Amino acid sequence: MSNFAQMLDSLWVVQDLDQQILALKERADKAAKEARHANDRHAKAVAASGAALQNLAAAKAKQSEIEAEIKRLEKRVRQLEGDAAASSVDAVAKHRAQIDELETLGLEQIELVQALEVALVQSKQNAEAEQLKAAHQAEIAAKEADFVAKAMEPLARTMQEVGATIAPEVLTTYQSANGRWPGKALCRVVDSYCEGCRAEINQQHVVRVKARAEIIRCPHCLRIHDAPVSK
Ligand SMILES: [Zn+2]
Repeated sequence: MSNFAQMLDSLWVVQDLDQQILALKERADKAAKEARHANDRHAKAVAASGAALQNLAAAKAKQSEIEAEIKRLEKRVRQLEGDAAASSVDAVAKHRAQIDELETLGLEQIELVQALEVALVQSKQNAEAEQLKAAHQAEIAAKEADFVAKAMEPLARTMQEVGATIAPEVLTTYQSANGRWPGKALCRVVDSYCEGCRAEINQQHVVRVKARAEIIRCPHCLRIHDAPVSK
């Protein structure tokens, strides 16, 4: 086997390592993403709980206003009742009608306050539940990151060793193709088609790929073409 063919064989090993590294990174990324989402849900639940508290405070303020207005009108009615003038009798009737209206409103407001109190308790419970979930996801993400970092070590070492057996310019070309097609920089030509992009490859190109004496890239997708014995 020529030196170049050996180098191409080594490139397949590098690609295999890159695939393992990619899978590990995806695993860590997925856990980190889930942790971020859980954090977002917690933040939203906290905001909703804050909003529920504000709604309740506003409803209670409104209730106090209604009660104060009723008291004010009742006081006025007591003052007017001591007065025998006809205009006062009319005013008393008018105030009493207003008081009735406000009392109805006040009852509705009490119901609203009670409903908002229930909503506040629920939103607080929800925020607490989301906090627990977020903490749990953060723990998983930390464990995954730890696992991935440990699993990466031997892969990086092997990558270093294998990389040292490959000519720098060949490795650079591979890395460029790998940047474009992560974990899929190398591929075969099968029945005159690029295995990567399915484009048709001419016979002259196929012959050069089979010779395994130089880097041959797909003219369409720029993957590196090879005809390894084992693949
Ligand atoms: Zn291609």
